[in-house]
Parts: sequence; C-alpha cells; structure tokens
Amino acid sequence: IFKKVPEGYPVPGKDLTVETSEFDLDQKLDNGSIIVHGLFFSLDPYFRGRMRPAEVKSYSPAFTLGQPLTGHQVGEVVKSSDTDKFPVGSIVYGFLPFQQYSVVDKNYAASLRVIKDAKENGIPLSQYVGALGMPGQTAYFGLLRVGTPKKGETLFVSAASGAVGAMVGQLGKQLGLKVVGSVGSQDKLDYITKELNFDAGFNYKEQDTKEQLAKLLPEGIDIYFENVGGETLEAVLDNVNTKARIIACGMISQYNEKEPYGVKNLMKIVAKSVRFEGFLVGNYRDENEEFYEKVTPLVKEGKIHVKEDIVDFDQAPEAFLGLLQGKNFGKLVYFQALK
Ligand code: NDP
Repeated sequence: IFKKVPEGYPVPGKDLTVETSEFDLDQKLDNGSIIVHGLFFSLDPYFRGRMRPAEVKSYSPAFTLGQPLTGHQVGEVVKSSDTDKFPVGSIVYGFLPFQQYSVVDKNYAASLRVIKDAKENGIPLSQYVGALGMPGQTAYFGLLRVGTPKKGETLFVSAASGAVGAMVGQLGKQLGLKVVGSVGSQDKLDYITKELNFDAGFNYKEQDTKEQLAKLLPEGIDIYFENVGGETLEAVLDNVNTKARIIACGMISQYNEKEPYGVKNLMKIVAKSVRFEGFLVGNYRDENEEFYEKVTPLVKEGKIHVKEDIVDFDQAPEAFLGLLQGKNFGKLVYFQALK
C-alpha cells in the first residue's frame, strides 16, 4: 500500500506497507470478467517517481495514496467468465494492482497477454516480468532502436548486473560489440565478466569511473546505455567518440536526491556530435511481438543468462528500498505463493 509520499528514500512500514483485507473468491463475475491470482510482481526503480503527490504530472501515473501499488505482474486466472480467452489455470502478464487477487473487467482484461505455453515451455514464470517482460523490452528496444549498434563498436552500460543492464550487455555481445559494464560490488563484477562474458567491467564504488573508462575502452565509447546518471554520465562524456549515441534509459542515482547532480561537461555533446536520446519502453508497445519472437528462444536455450532476486511478498517494501540502494543482485521480483 502506498501510504505516504517519501522524503528521500522511501521508509518501509511508513511510506510503503503490506496489509491484509478480505477478498470474496465466491463473488459473481460480470460478463467477461476474470479473477487473477498474482504470482510474480516486478519491483522497478521507476516506482520511486510514481511515489509522488497526485497533482504532479509525469510520464507514468502517480500511485494512489491508500491503495496498492500497480505494476507488471504474472498471475494465474483462478476464476473466469470468459473461458474461451481466459481458461481457468491460464497464465497472464499485465499491469495490475499488487495484491493477491484482482478482479479484472472485460475491457481491462483485453490488455493482458496470455502466455500460451507458460506451463510447458520450461521457462520459469518469474522471468516473464524480467528478461521476458518490461525490463527485457527496455534493453532490446533501447539498444537496437535508440543505440543503432554496428558490429565492432564499443558499448558501455551502467547498472550492468541489473534487469536491464545484464540484458543490454548480453545482447551487445551477440551483436559483436565490445562491452564494458559498471557495477557496485565485486560479486556483481565477477558475474558480468565471468558469467555474462562482458569484455571488461569495474566497480564504480572502488574505482574511478573516468579513469576506468579511459583504460578499458582506449578506443573510446561509441554507445552508452545510461541507467544511472550523475557523475557516471560526466565520466562518459569525457570518453565519448564523435557521433556516439547515449541511450538515456534511466538515472537511478538521482531518484532520491533533493538536488540533482549538475553535469559539468554537457558541451561535449556538441563538440562530439553526440546523439543523446531519451526513450520509454512504452514507445515500442506495438513492436513487442518482435521482442518475444527474438528473445524468448535466446532465454529458453540459455543463450541469455538470467539472474533473479526473488523475495517474499511480505518483504516487498524493504526490497524496494534495497533496489534503490543497490542491494538487489539481478532482477528484483516478489513472489506470492498460490494458496
Ligand atoms: P536494476 O535491476 O539495475 O537495479 C537497480 C540497480 O541500480 C541497483 O542494483 C544498483 O546496482 C544500481 N544503483 C542504485 N543506486 C545507484 C547509484 N546511486 N548509482 C549507480 N547505480 C546505482 O534496475 P533495472 O534494470 O530495473 O533498471 C535500470 C535502469 O533502467 C533504471 O534507471 C530504471 O529507471 C531504468 N528503466 C527505464 C525504462 C524506460 O522505459 N526508460 C524502463 C525500465 C527501467 P549497483 O550495485 O551496480 O550500483
């Protein structure tokens, strides 16, 4: 439940809570309605921006005070008045309230994606909110459409072990790019260099970003997949090549700051003819089928490695705070067992 607009980092138990209320599973459903039991819920950094007063406008809707968060989830249809489209037992993916059960009316149900062979294809259901969900789509469309990569180019990605970053780096390797990532711990560094086969990486908490970029990418940066903003962006601008592309996906280092970091060398964008382009995953909604066709086999065959950090429903507020502090290792998901 979104209880209070946070000041700085959200406080579990105060700004976000987990609560219990009654739900009538025997209720009569309107024609076309279904009841979805939420199984896996995606906790995402952009939720911080949604924890704001309702009157403040932004690209994603503010959470409603006193109501559950809403976001991407995978659930199972447990009751249906439209058994042709949504047989009981079918697995759906969509944007729903973060509660154990949701009644979904006919109109809204049209926005849900039924994952046809979900129970047979061997892919864990949780991955449909991560590598095969919104974060995977963000990586895919951001890198391919905004980054316009060409074989042999260099790619730097920040927050490289996370849901988006790990996918970006692995897709980059498959496209024949030289890939370097930055992360916040030694474990994460080992993961991206040894398991994901990034060409190199560094721990930005212990090493200087500008120096590392110059050392690991002496040929300069052709593409930067921007997830963190702040000083990292400044260090990148000091190391970009002419006609580089900066894919402005997110700036997590700034989400809890009262005063944003002032990047001092923006003039490099002019001097190096850099294309600095922001994007939202929702811009590519109509192209999602392409994503599923291309990326599902890669995940299924293990050609894209997936790491998840799965927590229990009760721990969601603490886990969300942890996401904003780099405590998650892999895509953060929370799980509600089918009762
Ligand atoms: P991650 O799984 O990468 O988790 C967030 C990670 O960010 C943390 O684990 C931490 O890793 C890193 N981080 C946290 N605080 C800081 C900081 N102050 N400085 C540097 N790094 C920090 O999250 P996602 O993959 O889900 O999201 C990655 C980015 O993509 C975010 O900026 C998000 O807002 C953005 N996004 C944008 C979308 C769009 O449509 N444009 C859609 C989805 C996501 P570490 O330990 O390595 O520091």
